[in-house]
Amino acid sequence: MAHFYVYATNDIREGQPLQLDPSTSHHLLRVLRVGAGDRVTLFDGRGARSDCTLRSADGRRAEAIPGPVEHVPPPTLRPRLLQGLPKGAAMDELLRRATELGIWEICPVLCRYGDGGLRPTKSPSREARWRAIATASCRQSRNPFLPAICRPLPLEEIPLRSPSLRIVASLEANASPWREVAGRFSVLTGDVYLAVGPEGDFAPEEQRWLRRNDFLPVSLGPRILTAETAAMVLLAAVQLAGG
Ligand code: SAH
Repeated sequence: MAHFYVYATNDIREGQPLQLDPSTSHHLLRVLRVGAGDRVTLFDGRGARSDCTLRSADGRRAEAIPGPVEHVPPPTLRPRLLQGLPKGAAMDELLRRATELGIWEICPVLCRYGDGGLRPTKSPSREARWRAIATASCRQSRNPFLPAICRPLPLEEIPLRSPSLRIVASLEANASPWREVAGRFSVLTGDVYLAVGPEGDFAPEEQRWLRRNDFLPVSLGPRILTAETAAMVLLAAVQLAGG
């Protein structure tokens, strides 16, 4: 039987039954037909996970009884993506793949040439969908750390942590090849910010903000990549350089 990985919003404690929410219960009991006595792995998105035995409370709500709880240490390399908000479904796909590749935090950035421009938009349904996508991607990739997803903000309102390495995927002529930047570090660790522009690229004032805030411009080759591809290439390169 395939092993199922299930997200729990509550703290996981050995021996303490956890009621799974109605949609997870429905998915397990009705769709996957996993039943009482079967085993699943619960994870809390903060590094705790436990092999659990399922029981079905009333045929509809599933309950999991956690075994010993394992606490996965947080990774030493924490990539944080500042992503110029692309249009439509591109952000959904980007989130899914970035979560698979172990992104630690995603800050969707309101850019002059991105989706909706600089207008602050509040869309609780969009943000709930982003969280659901990241959760599903953690389940699929067995990533025990759910990425933080920030509220979309213009670049200059994003609080940056220090110390941190800061890299921007750049189409400017002065951008260094990735090999050159990676060669400066034996192993990448700590907080690493990756900035990737929207479809329309960063505007000149956004480029200036990135320069003022010590983002190293990196070229990913002579072809113009879509924002989604550029983000995945840069994230994969950083993860590989982190060993
Ligand atoms: N509309 C622009 C392309 C923007 S691509 C044009 O036609 O020129 C979106 C983002 O992907 C860019 O802002 C940049 O951050 C990144 N990107 C795309 N291709 C890249 C490359 N070859 N090297 C580095 N970054 C790249």
